[in-house]
Amino acid sequence: MTAAVPSSPDWAAVRADFPVLTRQVHGKPLIYFDSANTGQKPAAVIEAVDDFYRRHNANVSRAVHALGSEATEAYEGARAKLARFLNVRTDELVLCSGTTFAINLVAYSWALPRLQPGDAIVLTRMEHHANIVPWQLVAQRTGATIRVAEIDERGQLDLPQLYGLLTPEVKLLALTHVSNVLGTVNPVREICREARKRGIVTLVDGSQAAPHRPLDVAAIGCDFYAVTGHKMSGPTGTGALWARREHLDAMPPFVGGGEMIKEVRFEGTVFADGPRKFEAGTPNIAGFVGLGAAVDYLSALGMAQVDAREQELLAHFNAALAEVPGLRIFGQAQEKAAVVSFLIEGAHAHDLATLLDLEGVAIRSGHHCAHPLMQHFGVPATCRASLAYYNTHEEIDAFVAALHKVRKLLA
Ligand code: PLP
Repeated sequence: MTAAVPSSPDWAAVRADFPVLTRQVHGKPLIYFDSANTGQKPAAVIEAVDDFYRRHNANVSRAVHALGSEATEAYEGARAKLARFLNVRTDELVLCSGTTFAINLVAYSWALPRLQPGDAIVLTRMEHHANIVPWQLVAQRTGATIRVAEIDERGQLDLPQLYGLLTPEVKLLALTHVSNVLGTVNPVREICREARKRGIVTLVDGSQAAPHRPLDVAAIGCDFYAVTGHKMSGPTGTGALWARREHLDAMPPFVGGGEMIKEVRFEGTVFADGPRKFEAGTPNIAGFVGLGAAVDYLSALGMAQVDAREQELLAHFNAALAEVPGLRIFGQAQEKAAVVSFLIEGAHAHDLATLLDLEGVAIRSGHHCAHPLMQHFGVPATCRASLAYYNTHEEIDAFVAALHKVRKLLA
């Protein structure tokens, strides 16, 4: 018997769920092609945050009154939803402000006490600064060194070179699941298997994967997986770190304060178990309520459907861009998310983005927090158009028409 294929959502109706997408910018309909930067929010997410503040607002895990338990239930409910979405255990999921915090938590709590002179950390050429700078800080303080896995001309990892770097000195391999600049989808399952065979701990930066494809973090076989809520149509200041329980238990707290303790005496403190040991202070409760709603929203669409929709938009986008003279695309990986970095001969990235903004088009220009990748390509900046399931084929045609227009202005 074949499994039933869920029907595709009505994408026009889905788009209508996003209030901001009805906006005009400089008198033109907004074309939001900057979802790799931050995702837009459906009304369900905005309303969940609004409802929390209007009807349930209280602190979590502290008060016995009704609002206190409603807030705690909603916050813990969000953890459970996100755990299901990622296919991980709730008692292994630390809620935090985003991927940047999640990676720093691993850097300071796991790596700093362990690494020594002579140890090495492997990163890749395509990492976001959030997955480079914390390791440089750890390397400076421990005497460990950093090695870099390089990419081929299509913007894919050179796997033989990467595996060649994984010698006994390497204690950690930290890499992105999907590149925020090139869109490259890395074969993280295979890479983590190779690292594990060699006893190397792995951290996967899932910021650009979680919003776009079905995820089974348990099946990837990594040790740590980081996600950012605001790229998943959730509120800013939300995210999570999944870590194997054995690591969480062995890691000292990173930030101290209320909520993360069992008992405090001046002689010493007994810390809470599991994720709570890393969640000091009042969290972004309303934000996580919104993230829970975002996870519900994405789950109802179906991540396989989201992925298929974005791949269809990407195919159209690539075909339309092929008609633009002088266009250079950075990253042509075989498996690629709907992120397209480009330049037009003779035009600066910021000039292109500024003129496109006047046409109502929002893209990002700059280094995309990936200086080492820009150095590799020998450019200071690129333009990046990044699509999501709520974009349309008509927007792609309008974008390409706008690109033809601004290209002529700059030529
Ligand atoms: N890693 C990647 C691949 C990203 O694209 C981003 C955000 O752009 C981050 C990490 C950092 O995420 P945040 O700033 O939400 O913590």
